[in-house]
Amino acid sequence: MSSDQIDDVEIATFCGRLTCGKAFIQTAGRGRPKEFCSETCRRAADRDYKRARGRAGVLDEQLRRTRHEVAAYGRKPEEGQWTPAERVQAEIQAQTALTRATTVLELGASSERLLTELQALVMAIRPILADSARQAAQIA
Ligand SMILES: [Zn+2]
Repeated sequence: MSSDQIDDVEIATFCGRLTCGKAFIQTAGRGRPKEFCSETCRRAADRDYKRARGRAGVLDEQLRRTRHEVAAYGRKPEEGQWTPAERVQAEIQAQTALTRATTVLELGASSERLLTELQALVMAIRPILADSARQAAQIA
């Protein structure tokens, strides 16, 4: 008995082409195992693979561009709405205006100076309250 005869085992397997999947018999132990039921399927699978690889490349590129676009815009969902960074910036300015107004109230100042600090405080707080009102309107 030769080793060829021992290794000649017929096994059932399935065609590797996704749209076929047909069962076929192949002889194990003789060279590279067949992946496809036919030469037609082998060629078609190669075409399918190249097409899918091309599509994946196009989609990868679209995804890369879209992510770049998202990063470039930051978070600006709607007209007139602040990004989190803009909100933080406005709050810092309001905090500064409040500190200055508190200081002139405590230490006293000319009415002209008091008026200036009060105006600055109003200008700093008004847009924050407007933004809060916009957010509240969206939640409601
Ligand atoms: Zn097939």
